[in-house]
This record gives sequence, C-alpha cells and structure tokens, in this order.
Amino acid sequence: MDFSLSEEQEMFRRAVRDFCQKELKPYAAEVDRTGELRWDAIRKMPSLGLTGLQVPEEYGGADLDSVSTAIAIEEIGRVCGSTGLSIAAHNGLCCWPIVKWGTDEQKSRWLPRLTSGDALGSLALTEPNAGSDLRGVRTTARRDGDEWVINGQKAWITNPRYAPVIIVFCRTDPEGGKHGFSMIVVEPDREGVTLHPPEKKMGVRGSPTQMITFDNVRVPVDNLLGEEGRGLYQTLETLDGGRIGIGALSVGLAQAALEETVRYARERKAFGRPIADFQAIQWMVADVATGIEAARLLVYQAAWLKDAGKPYTRQAAQAKLLASEVAERAAYVAIQVHGSYGYSQEYPVERIYRDQRLMAIGEGTSEIQRLVIARRVFKELQ
Ligand SMILES: Cc1cc2nc3c(=O)[nH]c(=O)nc-3n(C[C@H](O)[C@H](O)[C@H](O)COP(=O)(O)OP(=O)(O)OC[C@H]3O[C@@H](n4cnc5c(N)ncnc54)[C@H](O)[C@@H]3O)c2cc1C
Repeated sequence: MDFSLSEEQEMFRRAVRDFCQKELKPYAAEVDRTGELRWDAIRKMPSLGLTGLQVPEEYGGADLDSVSTAIAIEEIGRVCGSTGLSIAAHNGLCCWPIVKWGTDEQKSRWLPRLTSGDALGSLALTEPNAGSDLRGVRTTARRDGDEWVINGQKAWITNPRYAPVIIVFCRTDPEGGKHGFSMIVVEPDREGVTLHPPEKKMGVRGSPTQMITFDNVRVPVDNLLGEEGRGLYQTLETLDGGRIGIGALSVGLAQAALEETVRYARERKAFGRPIADFQAIQWMVADVATGIEAARLLVYQAAWLKDAGKPYTRQAAQAKLLASEVAERAAYVAIQVHGSYGYSQEYPVERIYRDQRLMAIGEGTSEIQRLVIARRVFKELQ
C-alpha cells in the first residue's frame, strides 16, 4: 500500500496553493462581507484547470483525476469557503454530469462556456418542500412536440446567477415512481425562468444561493441529459462524487481553522507564557489534527476508489460525514482558543465557523449520510 501522492499531484497542489494564497486568501473577508465572488480570480482559474477539473481538454478542461480534484477543492476551501463551495458545485454538480452523460453535441454546446472562467454552473434538485426526499420533487417536465415544458420551483441553488446552464431535476412521468425523473438542462435566459434574490445566509455568503421559478419554460427535447427516467439514478451518482467535493472542502476549512489555532496559541500569552504551552490547548490541537488526518485520508480514499472504477458510495458518504464533523470541531476549537477575539469578525475563524456549518447540510445532511452508510453496511455484512 502506498499513501503518497504522485509527483504531478504534489506539483498541482503547490500550484493551486500559490494561486489561492495570492488570488483568494487576501480577499476572503471581502467576499464574505459583500456577498460577491472575486471574478478577477475566477477568470484566472482556467489556467490551472480549476473551472473544468474533470472536463476533457478538448472542451477547455484539465481532465484531472478525482484525487487531484479533491486536492484543488481542499486548497480553495482552506482560504475561502464561499469560493470553495461555488467551484465545488460548478465542477462536481454541473460539469461532471454533462461529461458523464452528455452527448458529443451537448458537450460541445455547453462545456467550453462552463470552463471559460466567465461562468459557473448549477444543479437544481432541492425544492421548497423537498430536500432530502428527492422523490418528493414536484417540478414537472412535460413533452410537447419537440420541446419539454417545465413548471415548478427550485430552492437553495448554488450559482444560478452566474450559470449559462442549470441542470434541473424534473418529474417526467408522474406515474413512474423512481423511474419517473429526468435531468433536463435549462439555460436561465429562457422565457419563464425567474431567479429570485440571493438568500441571506449564515455563511458561505459570497457563494450565491437562489430560488428559481420555472413557469412554462420551453427547452428543446435534446436538452435531456442522459436517459429519460434515469434522472434519480444519475443524480445519486452525481451526489456520490459531490460528497467527495464537500468532504474535501470540509478538510480545507478544518485545516484553515487548525492553522489559525496554532498561530494564535503561539502568540497569545496568559499566566506569563504562550497559551500553546498549556496541555489543555495542546490536547485540543492534537484531537483536531488527528481528525483532519483521518478525514483527509477518507476523502482521498473515496476519490481513489472512484478513479479505480470501484464502488465508492459508502466511502464518499463516510468522507463527507466525518470531514464535516471534523470541520465543526476544528472551527469550535479555533474560536475557543482565540477566546473573545475568536468571536470577533476581525479574525478569520469567525467566518470559518459560519462557513463550515453548511457542510453537514448541503449535498445530503449528516442524517442522510448515516442512512446511506448504514444501508451499505447492512448489505455488505449479510
Ligand atoms: C448554501 C446552500 C447551498 C445549496 N446548494 C444547493 C444546490 O446547488 N443544489 C441543490 O439542489 N440544493 C442545494 N442546497 C440544498 C441542500 O442540498 C438541502 O438543503 C439539503 O439536501 C437538505 O434538504 P432540506 O433543507 O430540504 O432539509 P429536509 O430534507 O427538510 O431535512 C430537515 C431535517 O430532517 C432530517 N431528515 C430528513 N429526512 C430524514 C430521514 N429519512 N431520516 C433522518 N433524518 C431525516 C434532515 O437530516 C434534516 O436534519 C443548498 C443548501 C444550502 C444551505
């Protein structure tokens, strides 16, 4: 067994880290405060492949493996949770399904714009009354000649204001049960699409989250992505990969919290010495560092399994579950070690605390991850 990253993966991490230190980290507080991503940085991302991590090169992507993809998301998350979420969603939830199920014509139509650095894509699953329960989705797509007619509402969608295309999870056969859903690509400039104002959120404030209404929106039949009736299965597969991304983002946020904790503990003095000298502080640091190591290994293992073509549903859910809980603990410890200063917006740990909170909710709550894991465990141990 070999746990080391390849030379290319190490080099890629260094390049992404340098980029993030220069282009994202100094602006992270501003992104959070203004609720706007830093487009000057995103426009430069294609040179590193960050806007098309797993997209083939002929469509402007970097065609990277899943471990490198996780490394990229981790590094972005380490400096800016908002940018990390938008880039993770763009790559994992929008580009990836198009690469996986798109026809050559669809890939040529949509991917070059998505990888250009001028846009970010979306996947719209959640509705005001259906999140965890995807089969409760009510948005419909009805066939009318050469078109789909879409009606319904999606909620909590990442990136739609920057998206040239939104993949919409629709009910295409009301009687079809789990075979009654499909993925349909909608360009948001079509008549009948309304993007609502961005949600006012606790964290990841720079990443836009919006409700979308579809009112008799017509798209050509060839905007169907993948197979009609296979939308639920395609979505679950997409979410498996997306969970590696959220796991990686959580590891990045946790790592940032740990680094801030250690830096502050060395500087801050109490009772005549740096608080880093106190065992109570050292134990918290030790536990967080151990959690991060375990979470990172689970994330990389899930990514490695995905690349090896082996089943990874359970491992992706475990990686996301553990990494999000580790990030929560790391952010808690960071604030605790900073004392009152941790509670202030002057220090980044306050933002990290708010940003990481999403990780146990988005792309499947921790409760849903536990359901996925338990289902697999009971099956595997029959
Ligand atoms: C910032 C942000 C960005 C997002 N981006 C996107 C996006 O790009 N695309 C998208 O489609 N969605 C997106 N979402 C939505 C997110 O994926 C959902 O909020 C999430 O899946 C949970 O759904 P819900 O909010 O409807 O909660 P619910 O499903 O209503 O769950 C409420 C509570 O009940 C629990 N629960 C539900 N069912 C069970 C069960 N069977 N067993 C045990 N507990 C259960 C849940 O764990 C949770 O604690 C985003 C959300 C946020 C906040």
